[in-house]
Amino acid sequence: MTAASTTAQAFPSLEKALKHHFGYDEFRHGQRQVIETILKNRDALVVMPTGGGKSLCYQLPALLRLGLTVVVSPLIALMQDQVDSLRDNGIAASYLNSTLSWDQVRSQEAALRSGETRLLYVAPERLVSPGFQQLLSEVSQSVGLACFAIDEAHCVSEWGHDFRPEYRQLATLRQRFPQIPIMALTATATQRVRQDILQQLRLNDPLIHVASFNRRNLYYEVVPKDRRTYGTLLQQVKTSGGPCIVYCLSRKRVDEIASRLQQDGIAALPYHAGLSDTTRTENQQRFIRDDVQVMVATIAFGMGINKPDVRRVIHHDLPRNLESYYQESGRAGRDGEAARCTVYYSYADVATIDYLISQKPDEGEQRIARQQLRQMIDYAESTVCRRRIQLGYFGEDLPQPCDNCDNCLSPPPIEDWTVEAQKFLSCVARCRERFGMTHIIDVLRGSKKQKILQLGHDRLSTHGIGKDRSVDEWRLLGRSLLHQRLLEETTDGYPVLKLNAGSWQVMRGQLSVEVAIPEGLGQATESPATAPDSLEAAQLMVRLRSLRKRLADEQGVPPYVVFAESALRQMAQQQPQTPDAFAQISGVGSRKLQQYGQIFTDEIRQFCQENDLPVTDTADIPVSESFNGSRRRQRPPSETHRVTLQMHQEGLSADEIAQQRRVKLTTTVKHFERLILAGEAVELDRLVSPERQVVIREAIETLNNRSMYAIREHIGLTYDYNEIRLVVADWERSQQ
Ligand code: ADP
Ligand code: ZN
Repeated sequence: MTAASTTAQAFPSLEKALKHHFGYDEFRHGQRQVIETILKNRDALVVMPTGGGKSLCYQLPALLRLGLTVVVSPLIALMQDQVDSLRDNGIAASYLNSTLSWDQVRSQEAALRSGETRLLYVAPERLVSPGFQQLLSEVSQSVGLACFAIDEAHCVSEWGHDFRPEYRQLATLRQRFPQIPIMALTATATQRVRQDILQQLRLNDPLIHVASFNRRNLYYEVVPKDRRTYGTLLQQVKTSGGPCIVYCLSRKRVDEIASRLQQDGIAALPYHAGLSDTTRTENQQRFIRDDVQVMVATIAFGMGINKPDVRRVIHHDLPRNLESYYQESGRAGRDGEAARCTVYYSYADVATIDYLISQKPDEGEQRIARQQLRQMIDYAESTVCRRRIQLGYFGEDLPQPCDNCDNCLSPPPIEDWTVEAQKFLSCVARCRERFGMTHIIDVLRGSKKQKILQLGHDRLSTHGIGKDRSVDEWRLLGRSLLHQRLLEETTDGYPVLKLNAGSWQVMRGQLSVEVAIPEGLGQATESPATAPDSLEAAQLMVRLRSLRKRLADEQGVPPYVVFAESALRQMAQQQPQTPDAFAQISGVGSRKLQQYGQIFTDEIRQFCQENDLPVTDTADIPVSESFNGSRRRQRPPSETHRVTLQMHQEGLSADEIAQQRRVKLTTTVKHFERLILAGEAVELDRLVSPERQVVIREAIETLNNRSMYAIREHIGLTYDYNEIRLVVADWERSQQ
């Protein structure tokens, strides 16, 4: 190898491969570098926030290299999802975990041995099991191994939030397969966990890529919680333009809000640990498949949910700490489209959380939890850029205010409250720094409560000097003084106000006090990040969504597996009606073009006709454009295809071949497809009866289309994809 092949130019066609397999035009920041690294057989640690695009970092190389890529993931629900998505892009991926039947496992394993499978998802406990290790050795010798991708790599660390002991054993991979590169991936940002990953997994001189944790497409806001809150929530859900998650602190609240929303005609379901496993799984599934729009949940919901098109995450109650808030709100907008994150805040929640914390057995834990709660309160009450506070928490600096949070877009007015502050602090002093905020405010407002009279606090000079301000205003000032460190509060569970040096400076008139008045925070403002669509685009979007839903249901996959929200939006705006135009949509790769191009452009064309919008006549589409041009460039048959051919020539049926080779029938059929395209001697009449061939061929020619979906729609569901696939291949062969 010459030095030149190791430069950045070594892989000039990565963008082409990206478009071909995934339909994207460009890499996100860092993806290309990570991919190049792994293609050069070097280890990598990839730290990217949720939705950052980690999966692509190992998925694309898996397709470009010889051998099998093994992906370790602890989240079984997510595995299936990823595999569905990959298969919908025409990529041979599979998974092995405890949800599969014995037969399914056998056929997956056969596909591994035959080199059919490019990407295998596996749970860590299975990976380290002796049986699987044996299989891995076999595969490594026959097909070869390309890479180990360790997803959720923070699970190796006791310092992370999700330690799993079986992850520790992954270190054996390095010993057993020292030549195979390892890619570790995580969304956890702390330095400590990162170090642990490097050591535990024995990464060797890895590329370390840490992406910014700034999720620019998310709009953050905090809204005061009061009696009108439910109405605001209902409104927000109605105008969200997509799926929403509403997080609540308790199961009771979850049930309550879910049923109120249902009564108000919103498709909402509850999710919490009090529901049975079956109900939970079912509700989750219905949310993922877009059968319902809103999931009302406790924080039990969300781990391993890969739904990219959540448009709104609402915390009905205050989250416990900033780290969980970042993770939970981060479930919005994984697809990179604008999304909104709202926290409803009332001081009453603080008391509830504080009570929960006091139930923790360990005092050290309590202390940490209280400190984290304090940071959360600071976030909720802050008048500076919310994003800056979040990123600061992860040690990341945001040089400019973000312009996509409530405080940046409508900064609260600042008022000089020095005189009020002086009154407040003197009152604390007169009460000898032995009382909490409520008592101080009572004295200021001249209360005649029993307690005040008993203590003789009605005779203090500060009694009644603050009648001109409401309780809420005094509370606002009190908390603002705490945040500005001009006042202290004891943290031993009995919050008592104490003065500090700053307090005395204020009282002596050496420091002035400004308070941000949270007016205008009351109304949830509409984010400017959501650009208004034209009326037609919005209407077309509705039709495309329901088409997507129908196609997804037919295949038993979530709608976003068919197309991402952004892809549909682009279609609605650009209204592509030809194969070339459709292929330009971001998210349309060769497989999606072939599988869905016809049916989506048909829908778009019909919509345009109905609405007097420009229409491209099908007759005007150049012959050079086709929805499945790429099918002709099939790769030549390999050894495994030849074995199938030989068995076919020995007189075995497709079913028998599948059984003997312990693979699925569809796998065998795909072998035949490739053999037919390559002009090998396959006796088609033995695979598909001649009468049925005639019907399928006629459909291809009438429709002028080789989309298997469109053909099946046309001739009826008694025809299955296997037979259609073979006849299409034969037809294509005859056209060459
Ligand atoms: P993560 O695993 O980091 O949470 P994913 O890998 O699920 O994130 O990616 C989030 C979303 O971004 C997915 O819908 C994915 O298809 C999309 N995506 C990834 N890379 C790109 C890219 N280069 N261009 C456009 N979309 C991308
Ligand atoms: Zn901001």
